Formats: sequence, C-alpha cells, structure tokens
Amino acid sequence: MPAKKKVVLRCPTCRTLVTATDENFPFCSDKCRVIDLGKWASGAYKISSPILDPDVLEGLGEMQRPRGDDDDDFRN
Ligand SMILES: [Zn+2]
Repeated sequence: MPAKKKVVLRCPTCRTLVTATDENFPFCSDKCRVIDLGKWASGAYKISSPILDPDVLEGLGEMQRPRGDDDDDFRN
C-alpha cells in the first residue's frame, strides 16, 4: 500500500508517466527534455499573437480589397 501520495505528471514529449522525484522531471528522460527544447528552438511551439489568429486574418482580408479600379476611374 502506498504510504504517501506521489506527484505524477506525463512527459510533455512522449506522455510517459513521470514522478516528481525523477531527476529529469517533468520529462521522463534527458532525451525527451532535449527533444522538447528542440521544438521550442525550431518554432514548433509558436507563441500565439493576435495577428496570427484566423479570425483576425479573415478580417484583414476583407479590409484589403483592391481599390485600384476606383483610382483609375478617378484619373480618367
Ligand atoms: Zn518522455
């Protein structure tokens, strides 16, 4: 029977259960830690910003309708 409650999380890289006492916590191994750092370095985890939000991009598309024809009419 377990005498005390263990703190257990899943490895962010491979989802293996890792206890808080593990030297590589919260990763299951040093390998998974390096893999996770590599994801950050390569931009796999992008920090979300308003300009990258799909809804915002749609709104920008509507505002950027071509107005070149109107300008030509004005000149002629
Ligand atoms: Zn892992």
